[in-house]
Amino acid sequence: MTPEEKRRQLEFYQDLGFTFLFRRPAAEASAEAPAAEPPAATVSAPLAAAAEPPAPQPAQVAPMAAPQPSKSVTAPFATQPLATAPLATEPPAIAAIEPYVPEPVQQESPTAPPALAPAPPPVAPQPEPVLPRPPEPMPELYTLPPLEPADDSMLKIREDIGDCRRCRLCEGRNKIVFGSGNEQSPLVFVGEGPGADEDQQGLPFVGRAGQLLTQMIENTASKEGIAITRPDIYICNVVKCRPPENRTPQPDEMEICGQFLSRQLTVMKPRAICCLGGTAAKALLNLKEGITKARGQWYKWRDVPVMVTYHPSYLLRNQSKELRREAWEDLKKVLHFVYDEAQ
Ligand code: SF4
Repeated sequence: MTPEEKRRQLEFYQDLGFTFLFRRPAAEASAEAPAAEPPAATVSAPLAAAAEPPAPQPAQVAPMAAPQPSKSVTAPFATQPLATAPLATEPPAIAAIEPYVPEPVQQESPTAPPALAPAPPPVAPQPEPVLPRPPEPMPELYTLPPLEPADDSMLKIREDIGDCRRCRLCEGRNKIVFGSGNEQSPLVFVGEGPGADEDQQGLPFVGRAGQLLTQMIENTASKEGIAITRPDIYICNVVKCRPPENRTPQPDEMEICGQFLSRQLTVMKPRAICCLGGTAAKALLNLKEGITKARGQWYKWRDVPVMVTYHPSYLLRNQSKELRREAWEDLKKVLHFVYDEAQ
């Protein structure tokens, strides 16, 4: 290598910051350096040493000078050990890691249905309510029509009735029951309509109800000291033909046939009338209250006093001593009212 090449190499190393490798203390350098040789530049010693490398003296190695700032490389890489720390023989202690235990995942059962409220017990089918039968329409004019001729008589009324077919009750009747008894009687009993026995005989109150009525009249009169028997009084009905199955006469039936009753009562001109049952009381008096409230009370048909009491058939169906006692009290009232002044 030529001196020029050495100088360039030295400059190269200096540029790299390795100038300290070639520095030595001035005293040491002067001692080693031959006196004859002129002091050279800082690069002369190393260059000379390179020509004749001295014996290695590790103990005399100069301490490392402060690092010189370099252009780009700050740390020497040739002289500093790259890895001075001994390699660890054992791996660093690692904190004990607990084994991973996966938490149980609560999965909703895809098949489990949601809890449902208990089903209500089955409801038993309810029978349809039985609606009460609406009341039958009542005619505005429910009282008996005043259709009496001037010269009317019981005979004329019967002739007018004839083979009457003025209402539907004619369809099932056998005989028209006009009435029976003393047409001059001051007391008239008015019932509802003929029954089976009356329909067969053509006479009012001849069946069981009639027999009871006879007993009630005669026994009461006897006990009260009134000398009358059944033939002394007059008995008739609101309708003169038997209703089928002994049903209650319809309002229109009573209105049509009632004109004959009205004529009978007008002709006879009794002192009092005794209505037997609620139907007769409604036909004559147009009463709204029931028989239990109306019985024992005095009313008026035109100017004629009217006593209301139970129908004998009602007393036969209800074997109540209280009802019979009430009927007996009603009869006493009407008998004393009619016959007390006469006797
Ligand atoms: S109930 Fe009176 S109106 Fe009717 S058919 Fe007999 S008699 Fe005539």
